[in-house]
Amino acid sequence: MSNDRFIPLSVPNIAGNEWQYVKECLDTGWISSVGEYVNRFEQMVADFAGARFGVAAVNGTSALHIALLLSGVKYGDYVILPNLTFVASANSIRYLGAEPILIDADPLMWQMDLDLLEQFLQEQTVLEGEVLLLKKDRKPIRAIMPVHILGNLCDMDRFQSIISKYPIAVVEDSTEALGSTYKGRSAGRFSPLGCFSFNGNKIISTGGGGVIVTDDEQLAKHAKHLTTTAKASPDEYFHDEVGYNYRLVNVLAAIGVGQMELLPSFIKRKKECVAYYKASLQGVADISFQQELPEVETNGWLFTIRTEKQKQLLDHLNANKIMSRRFWMPMNKLPMYSHCLFVQHSDESDKIYNTCLSIPCSTGITDEELEIVQREIKNALS
Ligand SMILES: *Cc1c(COP(=O)(O)O)cnc(C)c1O
Repeated sequence: MSNDRFIPLSVPNIAGNEWQYVKECLDTGWISSVGEYVNRFEQMVADFAGARFGVAAVNGTSALHIALLLSGVKYGDYVILPNLTFVASANSIRYLGAEPILIDADPLMWQMDLDLLEQFLQEQTVLEGEVLLLKKDRKPIRAIMPVHILGNLCDMDRFQSIISKYPIAVVEDSTEALGSTYKGRSAGRFSPLGCFSFNGNKIISTGGGGVIVTDDEQLAKHAKHLTTTAKASPDEYFHDEVGYNYRLVNVLAAIGVGQMELLPSFIKRKKECVAYYKASLQGVADISFQQELPEVETNGWLFTIRTEKQKQLLDHLNANKIMSRRFWMPMNKLPMYSHCLFVQHSDESDKIYNTCLSIPCSTGITDEELEIVQREIKNALS
């Protein structure tokens, strides 16, 4: 074992035509906010997810921001969100002047706990005409943002049957879940607008980037308009609403096209990693895994194990130059969101936060590296 070996958590894998496509952008001068690769990338992501339209954005956070805006979320509204998520989900809500209502995690699937959600809606909300209000202060609950945590999906049939009784919009944070399905339907397709992210550790990467997918042509056009400064005239600087400069530039979209060509092979490799880790770590110490429903095929985005010996394992892996990461700190523990309503029985988010560790699963990881990781996990816990 060489001393300079380091096994990263989940890093980009530039293995196809990315270089050639980027060179073409540079050679032709089409490097900026319009270009053939932007259109191609949008369509490839939409096709892959089974949607009619794709709208590129500068990152997943901005995609979520625009999707919430288009779903009618306004200043002073509430948006229901899982407490256990990456901060970008909550930030996208706050950008609109809205506040998250945080729902605790399911202890087995680590997604929003649907029992808690149902109970919350029944007990703590009230309908006023067509608007759902939080009983306590009678402010509108305008939307809910399910997050497909680690590429897993919750019981989406049950989710939809709970939600269908209430007049609230659904905006999926499917940023981690490109390639994941529930009953054959792609993540991002359980709401009118679904959002994907292509930052450095996602299953494919454009360095930074995002795409909104939808079947609704009007929504797609409006999303495009809002992400490109809302310019309403081709030859004059006439802007008809407050737009955003959220475009994904052609150079990055060119990387995205190269990455999309590789996505099926990336998903295959992620699944091999999941299968390998599950087989080799099953029954080791107190290790357990995120539960998946039989209806769910996940993209295996970021393999994560659970053990009471989190710190011991983290220290051992660090000392052995194997990168490993705790989960995101739950939203209710962050200063900006600590005052938010947190719906919970026994703070499962905190328990997950204190026991889970993500372990290396880059699509470019070698079999030898996988073997080293599982061996060192066993060494740490034995
Ligand atoms: C990656 C991610 C996002 C979006 O992140 P960007 O870096 O802005 O692309 C949003 N929510 C979750 C849960 C994520 O994992």
